[in-house]
Amino acid sequence: MPARPSQVDKTPPRALRATAMASSLAPGALLRLKPDQATGWLTGLMRWRPPGSCLVCHRWSAAAVCGHCTMRWARPAPLRCQRCAVNLSHLPHADGICMDCEAHSPEFDRALAALDYAPPWSRLLARLKFQDACHLAPWLAERLTQAWQARPQIASVILPMPISRVRLRERGYNQSGLVAQALGQRLGLPVAHDVLQRARHTTRLMQLDPAQRQAEIAGAFSVNPSTRRRVIGRHVAVVDDVMTTGATLNEAALMLREAGARSVSAWVVARTARSRRATDAAAPCFKDAP
Ligand SMILES: [Zn+2]
Ligand SMILES: [Zn+2]
Repeated sequence: MPARPSQVDKTPPRALRATAMASSLAPGALLRLKPDQATGWLTGLMRWRPPGSCLVCHRWSAAAVCGHCTMRWARPAPLRCQRCAVNLSHLPHADGICMDCEAHSPEFDRALAALDYAPPWSRLLARLKFQDACHLAPWLAERLTQAWQARPQIASVILPMPISRVRLRERGYNQSGLVAQALGQRLGLPVAHDVLQRARHTTRLMQLDPAQRQAEIAGAFSVNPSTRRRVIGRHVAVVDDVMTTGATLNEAALMLREAGARSVSAWVVARTARSRRATDAAAPCFKDAP
């Protein structure tokens, strides 16, 4: 069965919905809106940016990020850990594997990252996630495509990291689903939006320490029994926007392995850096996985 994008990914960004709403309103109609409707409408209008300006330098650009900013800020890292994609520029490693992965291997087999999670990309990823900057997704997918072309990894199907129904209602779209869809088109790979599911809602993991993250994410995913055949015996790649400790991708990989996936790759737009002396907050969660 061909991949069927979820309802989430068909939903236009709120900014576009607000623009469409504006064009359909009669003069003075805004005054008749209820207070919460007017607030939402105005917020959407304020978030809207005219097409053609770079999200980093704000100069004219046909792409979400101009060529100058891409060349200056989005150069691929010279070397990343083959297992967790951490930037190895300033870290000890053995044959392309970081010391943390040497000691505690993650559940996924390999990882790929396009960018370091640092300014300006951390700010732009927040806009994709929280401020409807959906037009960023193709540009981010292109960065991930180039990272893949530099170090190809085997995969026969792409699965977006799912978000909970609560988040879906709040946000109106799954940012990882948007990137995954654009990436699949570029790599010629099918994208299955209906295999990996969020079994329950979790609190925002960014505010938790590694142990709390692991406890919060445990059991948060399930594999849809009716579409499970799409991963049995296959090399699957899970696409997410950011990898921090790896706890979320680790848990998803665990579920996919139990469902019969032959191998699991973690493909992320951005990867947080790890200092030589990793603090608790930056330490990986792989060792804590059940
Ligand atoms: Zn620019
Ligand atoms: Zn590693």
